[in-house]
Amino acid sequence: MTREEFANVLLPNVKHDYTYYEELYPERDLPEGAIVTRYAPSPTGFIHIGALYSAFIGKTMARQSDGVFFLRIEDTDQKRTVDDGVNKIISDLEKFNINFDEGVTKNGDVGNYGPYTQSERKDIYQAYAKKLIIEDKAYPCFCSEDETNADKELQESKKERIGYYGKWAKCRNLSMEDAIKRVQNGDKYIIRLKSDGDFDKKISFKDCIKGKADLPQNDMDFPIIKSDGLPTYHFAHAIDDHLMHTTHVIRGDEWFPSVPKHTQLFVMLGFKIPKYAHISPLLKEDNGTRRKISKRKDPEAAISFYHEKGIPNEAIMLYLETVANSNFEMWMEQNKDKDPKDFVLDFKKMSTGGTLFDYDKLINISKNYISKLKASTVYDMALEHAKIYDEDFSTLLEKYKDYSIAIFNIEREQKKPRKDIAYFSDVKNQIWYMYDELFTPSNYEWQNVSDKKERELILNTYINEYYNSDDDKDGWFNHMKECAESLGYAGNMKDYKENPDNYKGNITDVSMVIRVALTTKSMTPDLYDIMKLLGTDRMKKRIEMSLQDN
Ligand code: GLU
Repeated sequence: MTREEFANVLLPNVKHDYTYYEELYPERDLPEGAIVTRYAPSPTGFIHIGALYSAFIGKTMARQSDGVFFLRIEDTDQKRTVDDGVNKIISDLEKFNINFDEGVTKNGDVGNYGPYTQSERKDIYQAYAKKLIIEDKAYPCFCSEDETNADKELQESKKERIGYYGKWAKCRNLSMEDAIKRVQNGDKYIIRLKSDGDFDKKISFKDCIKGKADLPQNDMDFPIIKSDGLPTYHFAHAIDDHLMHTTHVIRGDEWFPSVPKHTQLFVMLGFKIPKYAHISPLLKEDNGTRRKISKRKDPEAAISFYHEKGIPNEAIMLYLETVANSNFEMWMEQNKDKDPKDFVLDFKKMSTGGTLFDYDKLINISKNYISKLKASTVYDMALEHAKIYDEDFSTLLEKYKDYSIAIFNIEREQKKPRKDIAYFSDVKNQIWYMYDELFTPSNYEWQNVSDKKERELILNTYINEYYNSDDDKDGWFNHMKECAESLGYAGNMKDYKENPDNYKGNITDVSMVIRVALTTKSMTPDLYDIMKLLGTDRMKKRIEMSLQDN
């Protein structure tokens, strides 16, 4: 029996020889230095913040080198596949402006190197597995799970390395004839790589992010084709990245220890080894130690967490960019009128060990980002958020559209805008008192002026004698000053500081009483703007209400 006949028995029904696929997917015609890379998720429908981070780096590296960024779905582990998982991933990434030049889309595949879903590439993988069997670089293994588990226990008890290698690789030396008999007998089998590696020797390679590394060679005869005929992840990715002409495998560093297996596969298959870039994880401090953010333990691992909170996607991307290259922030500072897209990301400036996920920093970036938006955009985003998470508030925002935009416009669209909103779930909390429907006359934060009689005097004097709805800001301020002085308060801080005993207090005490009467809050945006928006009648009503408070 020839090895070819042997391979035909093991993998019957393979439509094409591997050479067919080599011709089908020619080299890409791209400029020198172009990075071809992929985002290759399992269709779990779930985007983790770390996955978003990897996808962002892949996209940016491809785009800035005029390369190609494609989406490949790695669904060979059918257990991890969920309904509509692919569409969910695509939709989530779209929200972050992560789109693909090629690969799986909501409307099918786009590009000349497909299919881009691994379960549709079974024939391709088997064609290459056959090549390896013919070259005596792969063999069938009939060991059951029970048998390999028993060996594992034995290895553990003898303190030997766990795995299917050397003397433990029981099917490695099975003759073709014996193997054929077992196939004819209906025994289940998988195909394993016949590893040519030596664990006591090292492979040296240069990771684009982590730099030079030496890892032990792989001597495990790991599975390449499972009993259902589908490939393992290791095998599939090697074939795909070869045929899709991936220049850089950019992925999470949990795959770093697999590099010896992967480069071995490339070499044994006769492929050119791609460059590897392993991205360090986002870390979290947990009881004094640092660990990778986990989708099971940490709510902030899920993208939905940020959506619920109302942190804009753009702010998340800006944050991830500062994590990727810490010089990004300084660049932004120095290039205020440039688009963040113009920043050139550099593998060499990426962290090699992991970065602490800094939630406070994200919030700060978000605050700055929102402060620079136009009032109408803030309105749109607040409404979009409220529509999903707070229906009552969304009704109010829609009912009072222009009024709401005017509220958002207080101290906005200017050189130093107010930075009060950090995320959209906090908007109602910031501005509720501007809506009569939400206004509750309680918990007044009267500061220094605790005497009710005094407050009554201030409020009545101001509204009846000094308030003028036609005042511009200067006029308004002068009236406030006059009012303060008429009541025995200093009209400016300098006078007050020089002779505090001469006054009941100063102008800020007076304006504070008015502010609190109108809003209940001691900290609000500009009082003049608030008064303009409330208008005389509502101001009067609120002052009356506040006088009921003890
Ligand atoms: N499918 C792998 C994962 O889910 C992708 C690894 C790679 O990018 O090579 O993480």
